[in-house]
Amino acid sequence: MPRRASKTEAGMPKTRYLIIGNSAGGIGAAEAIRQLDSEGSLTIISDEPYLTYSRPLISEYLAGECSLDSMLYRRPDFYARNRIQTILGRKAIGIDFAGKLVELDDGGRIAWQKLLLATGGTPIAPPVKGVDKGGVFTFTTIDDAERIRKAISPASTAVVIGGGLIGMSVTRPLVKCGVTVIMVELLDRVLSTMLDAQGSRLAEAELQRNGVTLITGQTISEIVGRPEDEGQVGGVILDDGRRLPCDLVVFAIGVRPRLELVAGSAVATNRGIIVDRRMATSVRDVYACGDVAEAFDFVHKGNRVIPVWPNAYLGGRIAGQNMAGLASKHTGGTAMNSLNCFGLSIVSAGMMDPPDDPTYEVLSTGPSAASYRKIVLKNNRVVGMIFIGEIERSGVVFGLMKDGINVGSFKESLLARDFGLSYFPDHLRRERLGAPPPAATLVAAAAAGAEETVMAE
Ligand SMILES: Cc1cc2nc3c(=O)[nH]c(=O)nc-3n(C[C@H](O)[C@H](O)[C@H](O)COP(=O)(O)OP(=O)(O)OC[C@H]3O[C@@H](n4cnc5c(N)ncnc54)[C@H](O)[C@@H]3O)c2cc1C
Repeated sequence: MPRRASKTEAGMPKTRYLIIGNSAGGIGAAEAIRQLDSEGSLTIISDEPYLTYSRPLISEYLAGECSLDSMLYRRPDFYARNRIQTILGRKAIGIDFAGKLVELDDGGRIAWQKLLLATGGTPIAPPVKGVDKGGVFTFTTIDDAERIRKAISPASTAVVIGGGLIGMSVTRPLVKCGVTVIMVELLDRVLSTMLDAQGSRLAEAELQRNGVTLITGQTISEIVGRPEDEGQVGGVILDDGRRLPCDLVVFAIGVRPRLELVAGSAVATNRGIIVDRRMATSVRDVYACGDVAEAFDFVHKGNRVIPVWPNAYLGGRIAGQNMAGLASKHTGGTAMNSLNCFGLSIVSAGMMDPPDDPTYEVLSTGPSAASYRKIVLKNNRVVGMIFIGEIERSGVVFGLMKDGINVGSFKESLLARDFGLSYFPDHLRRERLGAPPPAATLVAAAAAGAEETVMAE
């Protein structure tokens, strides 16, 4: 059960570490803090009323394939074991950065010494006419999944706006529930941020094979009501004037960093909150991570919002370490996504389509009916990859990418179905394998690894 932060003599709750956001970033920070400081008071606030859960699994939840319990990202006793005070189902509505206070929507205030903003993203719903009708949804929380579940029946028709990761994540469970789905994508192809054109074609073929109607190059100009109930979704009108009858509309056109708490403050922002390699913002003792922040992208060599789960968790860990006094620096992340599109496994990371520049090289198997592998190199270093169908070797290639390994001497083998350490040159294989660790280290690592990760990614 949620517990309140401890009260000071003056009556105001006070905490050494305050984290806003109880998801990947917030949990990463809390764990890092507790590894370094077992005593300092630590409080997590979230406006979602749930224990931390794996957000990507809301797709499986909507499909009826998992329960809330099986989606938990940490065991229920995680907070008590780590002496973390939780304030769940409460929203932080204001921050006094100079006075180091956070104000809650119930009028309560909390004093903090170090603050982490792990507030994630807000789903984008464009202000089209009719957006306030009943039957219009977004899809980023477990409550969204629950609301959609209640609204659908096998007789329903849904229009999903957006053919990106979130659009795909909501479409599969809708189809599984018997709903007729029409996907409307503004660009000329789906998954445009995680695939090249050839990869998109494979995903589109899979959608169509599963009965999804795909309309590209269009968005909606209006949501119209039902003849018998104007306040309830009855259809949409596309830009080209076509009218599509439907019972629900799901906006799945991405999220934007949730910046409302720093609006007008001294916390510097760009698209997201600007942080340095320590995940520190421009305001002393204030840190940010995850979908709300612009972290270092080692492929693009600059800071940008990288809205993926592992990036949020890792950024949170770096923030937490610095909050607890350990000077550590983020080596960087990049957009790595994995997706199961109706049984077609897709993994991609980094740059999909290199610029027209001779320092880049593309290796590709060329797409077959259900398989495609592509690797982008810059000066013999992996800077992008797409694996569709056969994804087993993607982790090894991503490791080479992350570590900036020169693959020049074995690049012809990168696309081999059985690619792995055996293809590495001797010196690199030895380096990657390393000296075997002493048994005691293995025991300790096993204990640490037995931590709480239950996310089924
Ligand atoms: C449908 C879907 C599928 C996805 N699939 C994948 C995938 O396959 N792989 C992958 O890597 N990533 C995936 N992602 C992205 C991934 O979930 C996010 O990158 C990750 O959740 C970001 O974590 P975060 O901690 O930054 O923020 P979030 O997970 O967004 O959590 C932020 C939390 O802070 C709370 N909060 C915000 N403001 C306040 C406030 N003022 N007061 C109190 N609480 C507040 C929010 O309610 C929320 O609970 C998916 C996302 C969605 C929506």
